[in-house]
Amino acid sequence: MRIIITGGSGFIGSNLILFLHNKYPEYQFMNLDKLSYASDQRYLSDLKSSSRYYFKKLDLVNREAIQDAVQTFKPDGVIHLAAESHVDNSIKGPEAFVQSNVVGTFNILDECRRFWSEQAEGLGAFRFHHVSTDEVYGSLGAEGYFTESTPYAPNSPYSATKAASDMLVRAYFHTYGMNVVTTNCSNNYGRFQHDEKLIPTVIRNAYQKKPIPIYGNGQNIRDWLYVDDHCAAIDKVFHESAPGKTYNVGGHNEWKNLDLVKKICHIMNELVGDGPDKDYANLMTFVTDRPGHDQRYAIDPSKIESELGWKHQGSFDQHLTTTIQWYIEKYSSLEV
Ligand code: NAD
Repeated sequence: MRIIITGGSGFIGSNLILFLHNKYPEYQFMNLDKLSYASDQRYLSDLKSSSRYYFKKLDLVNREAIQDAVQTFKPDGVIHLAAESHVDNSIKGPEAFVQSNVVGTFNILDECRRFWSEQAEGLGAFRFHHVSTDEVYGSLGAEGYFTESTPYAPNSPYSATKAASDMLVRAYFHTYGMNVVTTNCSNNYGRFQHDEKLIPTVIRNAYQKKPIPIYGNGQNIRDWLYVDDHCAAIDKVFHESAPGKTYNVGGHNEWKNLDLVKKICHIMNELVGDGPDKDYANLMTFVTDRPGHDQRYAIDPSKIESELGWKHQGSFDQHLTTTIQWYIEKYSSLEV
């Protein structure tokens, strides 16, 4: 099987390529990535010598370049992750999000439709998997969960552009009979995430004994999923889902931001133990809240659990500790 993965040099994409390359020794992969500031090619350096991995630097806004890549590689499937992904950046500069997330998704979706329609097997034989976020559903109060039938109500430019891309993918199923699937996942954590995101920021600032910023009163709630669990979910849905379906992916793992930061500080107290007055939590500093900050995200993953038998694995403590160890190693290597 030949799979194009877009955004494969970012956080989830790098983890996913390593996961799939290891699991399917007969598959070939082409990574299409523009190599934005959020990407890092070093994470895939182990694949440099692989005859089954190809990389092409490409901006999805450039439709001709996509056409060329699709016609040359002739994919049997696409897993589309490329996106501008940081909510704060979308507030400062939404246009880049419209370009990459909406125009970029349209370009890869439509080029695949055109190419696959011309193949003898027909359009329906080829899978397009769109990777999206639970942020498209907006914000929850204290009760309830996002299900696949929760109405879309995006609140940030980031989530609005992801919602728009989800709708395009949905329309290609209903209009053209394209074999699409969409996954909407909660917040991921694990190795390879860019320093700007919450968990790497907390670890880095604690390690460097700088103030740890906490938006507002720290009471916003997020559902955290280990990136390997997300990769396993994408693998399941890509291979086993019926066409046109959507699945919510989450870890039943809700944390108030403040409690999550305290937990990371606690683990770092044990792993490093060099915080002010022996506690990194003393570095916590409340800062002005993000505009339009959603109060709570929580996923009901029962559909993917019951229909496809996917379930998150391992404990949060175990995965968070592994993650913190990875970043400590990264940040300590910056000191030399
Ligand atoms: P990331 O920012 O770490 O990586 C995104 C990658 O996409 C980067 O390598 C970047 O260079 C590439 N890219 C961006 N715009 C591009 C363009 N126009 N053309 C080609 N490449 C482009 O993001 P991530 O956290 O790995 O997220 C991957 C996907 O998963 C996104 O679609 C995101 O919406 C979704 N998602 C992320 C999370 C999360 O917690 N990180 C949760 C749910 C869903």
